[in-house]
Amino acid sequence: MEQIFSQTFSDELIAIEQQFNAHNYHPLPVVLEKGKGAFVWDVGGKKYFDFLAAYSAVNQGHCHPKIIDALIDQAQLLTLTSRAFYNNKLGAFAQYITSLFGYDKVLPMNTGVEAVETAIKLCRRWAYDVKGLKENEAKIIVCENNFHGRTTGVISFSTDPSSTSGFGPFMPNYIKIPFNDLKALEIALQDKNVASFLVEPIQGEAGVIVPTDGYLSQSYALCKAANVLFVADEIQTGLCRTGKMLACDFENVHPDMLILGKALSGGVLPVSAVLCDDDIMLNIKAGEHGSTYGGNPLACAVSMAALEVLQKENMAQNAEALGKIFRTELQNLHHPLIKEVRGKGLFNAIEINSTNEETAWQICLQLKENGLLAKPTHGDKIRFAPPLCLKTEELLESVEIIKKVIMNF
Ligand code: PLP
Repeated sequence: MEQIFSQTFSDELIAIEQQFNAHNYHPLPVVLEKGKGAFVWDVGGKKYFDFLAAYSAVNQGHCHPKIIDALIDQAQLLTLTSRAFYNNKLGAFAQYITSLFGYDKVLPMNTGVEAVETAIKLCRRWAYDVKGLKENEAKIIVCENNFHGRTTGVISFSTDPSSTSGFGPFMPNYIKIPFNDLKALEIALQDKNVASFLVEPIQGEAGVIVPTDGYLSQSYALCKAANVLFVADEIQTGLCRTGKMLACDFENVHPDMLILGKALSGGVLPVSAVLCDDDIMLNIKAGEHGSTYGGNPLACAVSMAALEVLQKENMAQNAEALGKIFRTELQNLHHPLIKEVRGKGLFNAIEINSTNEETAWQICLQLKENGLLAKPTHGDKIRFAPPLCLKTEELLESVEIIKKVIMNF
């Protein structure tokens, strides 16, 4: 009886959202109302493992008490001043994040895509003011199947028709090369107008595509030789997700420019940032770029707490250790439905072996019925990226759910 009631309640909530909200997403039919650590609960009280973690924005776990405390304390004092005035948190945040990642300066924004746009502006300005390119001629190299966000500027270099169709015209001067292809990068870098190479260290939305070892360090070296900036979009791969603070750390690459977002606030509010040194950052002067909410004291307080939690709770080490177990367990299943299990740390995906485009979606529905939430990306891939506070026994329990669903499918 109770189950029928909660199903009806969920259906009603879904119907209201469908009626009044834009249809720009295709969610799984589950309505969530509570989260704690690695778990979420629906409106009927059913508990689920959250294996999406808000696309890696909730690396620290849902409603982490230290981050929520920082939010509440700061929200009672001061939330937003705009950048027309100084606030007493931005300096501390800037000092903290720049020393943590080893850069001279940070430029705080809100959403990930705003940070990507900011990085593009910084690359262009550096190319004109420092590298000496002619105005309006700077080019940026990007990878096929990239995902860097949804603004008209950023979709200009997407190769995914579902991101671009019907949204033109697009911005010129992007050179698209295959991901994980050093030869293609070498050729593209011969163009003297190239300002930067913008890359996800592991392509997330494309289905957790991990490049060959050495790809990042050799790409970086090629960029250096061509006087081109190496820009890492670590919005999804960064902040302990892949088993190190940054995915670039696996190859000891210190990008010229680092883009962070998502888990920078532990899922509490949108906080993103671009980090680089003065020779790049200081080319943008007062009044030339900004954001009303960027660098607000609430975001700064929350973000410092979020970064502290990642370090103090050894989330990178946990991601590394649990990721190995996850991949081994699923690889050992040797099931015909699984084409490949791949990933790094707790950033993993299963590629489904099926000619039916619906299979991955149907598997996710079954996972939901069995208490685990995950979402297909690009049709036949299912991404598994739980909060990094997950415990070993919880991981093993969730692996059993995944195995059971695949075997009974
Ligand atoms: N860059 C990468 C690598 C991402 O994965 C995403 C989001 O998934 C973005 C940029 C865009 O971030 P946001 O949705 O916060 O604008």
